[in-house]
Amino acid sequence: MTSSPGAADPTTPAGPAAVPGLAEVPGLAGVGGLAGAGDLAGAGDLDLAGDVVELTAALVGIGSVSGAEDAIATAVHRALRVVEHLRVSRTGNVVVASTDAGREQRVVLAAHLDTVPPADNTAVRRSVGPDGPEIGGLGSVDMKGGLAVALHLAATLPDPARDITVICYDCEEVEAARNGLGRLAATDPALLAGDLAILLEPTGGLVEAGCQGSLQLRVHTTGRRAHTARAWTGTNAIHAMAPLLSRIAAYRPARPVVDGLEYREGLQAVGVEGGVASNVVPDRCTLRVNFRYAPDRTPAEALAHVRDVLATADGPAVAVEVVDDSPPARPGLHSAIVRELVAAAGTGVRAKYGWTDVSRFAALGIPAVNVGPGDPSRAHTPGEAVPEQQVRDVEVGLRRFLAGDPTRLM
Ligand SMILES: [Zn+2]
Repeated sequence: MTSSPGAADPTTPAGPAAVPGLAEVPGLAGVGGLAGAGDLAGAGDLDLAGDVVELTAALVGIGSVSGAEDAIATAVHRALRVVEHLRVSRTGNVVVASTDAGREQRVVLAAHLDTVPPADNTAVRRSVGPDGPEIGGLGSVDMKGGLAVALHLAATLPDPARDITVICYDCEEVEAARNGLGRLAATDPALLAGDLAILLEPTGGLVEAGCQGSLQLRVHTTGRRAHTARAWTGTNAIHAMAPLLSRIAAYRPARPVVDGLEYREGLQAVGVEGGVASNVVPDRCTLRVNFRYAPDRTPAEALAHVRDVLATADGPAVAVEVVDDSPPARPGLHSAIVRELVAAAGTGVRAKYGWTDVSRFAALGIPAVNVGPGDPSRAHTPGEAVPEQQVRDVEVGLRRFLAGDPTRLM
């Protein structure tokens, strides 16, 4: 998840990547209603149609650090496969299940299976927080609660008013190249098809629309190397960076309103490299810059804007190199189906500041929003926990939307 900006951001790899075999470590599986610890056979016992909070706990009990999602993908695949009204496929650790009720519209529910690495928090914890009883443990907020909601809805809506595709995918919490949804979009885009995509990332139950883009740049200044004892014969590339840093420090980010939602941009220097030795005038300096931009700019416009900010009439020679560009997604609030979702969820709507996988759907022309249980500011923290009531509320809101008719609620 990326709503706590940068957290699951593809441009900001989250700590050590895979922890091979972690899912098999005794004690990571087998909590919350599963069979014995480390007993992957027990994972087949996921009860998708039962209580959605218990399903959340069971999913937290299956360790699934990025790169080690085999156990959870197997458990989810096994449980979905026996649901009669679902068409189910698995490719690697991406599991897709669809209803085929012949409805006019199809809604994609997308949830990643992986978590960030553990912080002494792999056990399922039940406690009482400010919002009542909570399920805690690694991934509870990001995003086993949302995953449970998606699986439960797919399993219990045999006759939905809108057809449902659930996509459970791996490697969201690591670099973009490994992302399971990205892989699916490249190899089998038809599986992503729909009239609306809902990512069940933690949003505190709100509808978070669109997402900001993220541009990662390296800005290089060059000079002329010389002995510091005869510094006048050289040109200092680190000094040349000073006016650029001043411009970035003084930059006033915009707060544009797009489709009625206020976004907040940000331009930050996030790293600096330079220097040769303590007696050498340096001839090179590199500044790493991150520009978070609202979805009213295209990636090309965002880059042109940063170049403008850095350009100085009498300034040093500057080379700007694009390292990564994750495009933004517009909120799509003008579309009828998104408005209906907002009404059904009944929780209000706000802008999404972080970059999320909604952008992948937007790139395919599919409106996409984030809605899920859990406070995004608790995601990736050792004490993450999701309020049980929020899991239930999101489930009810989405059920109302997917059933389309209160008599179909159960
Ligand atoms: Zn997430």
